[in-house]
Amino acid sequence: SATDPQRIVSRAVARFSEHHPEHALIVETKDPLPMLKADPAMLRRALDNLLENAHKYSNVDQPIRLRAQTVVLPGQTTVLEIDIADAGIGIDSVDLPHVFTPFFRSDRSRARKTGGVGLGLPLARRIVRAHGGDIVIRSEVGIGTSATVRIPI
Ligand code: ATP
Ligand code: MG
Repeated sequence: SATDPQRIVSRAVARFSEHHPEHALIVETKDPLPMLKADPAMLRRALDNLLENAHKYSNVDQPIRLRAQTVVLPGQTTVLEIDIADAGIGIDSVDLPHVFTPFFRSDRSRARKTGGVGLGLPLARRIVRAHGGDIVIRSEVGIGTSATVRIPI
């Protein structure tokens, strides 16, 4: 059914701020986002997982940034792009290819107090791919990580 991406983003942001009032989340939405055919509960779950990672793998004095916009790709496909970026611990380049593998967790993340089972990213990707899109993760150790969701409109 027709879903308002703006609403999905707002609700994910509101929930995040409710759970982590101490961690700043800067939201930037460019131009009105067009409606798309999507399962709102599923998309929200995917965003929740990405926001939770940004929180878990950074410190509260490092604001998280969420940017939502529509982008026209070279092949002329228009996509909804939601980018969640943190300035946290980052992901080692040898670990990066494995982060979407179920139960994978880097040693760096295991060393943190915040546990997890390693299913957040596999699930998020599954959801986004079910919508015809994908998630791309970029990261640098000590600099931070960004997760970019792209879903064709
Ligand atoms: P779960 O999401 O199941 O609670 P998790 O967060 O460990 O556990 P994923 O969300 O699937 O699992 O992420 C897999 C691994 O990828 C993490 O354990 C961590 O090593 C790495 N990772 C994911 N997001 C980030 C991030 N924003 N910064 C640094 N490392 C990350
Ligand atoms: Mg996770």
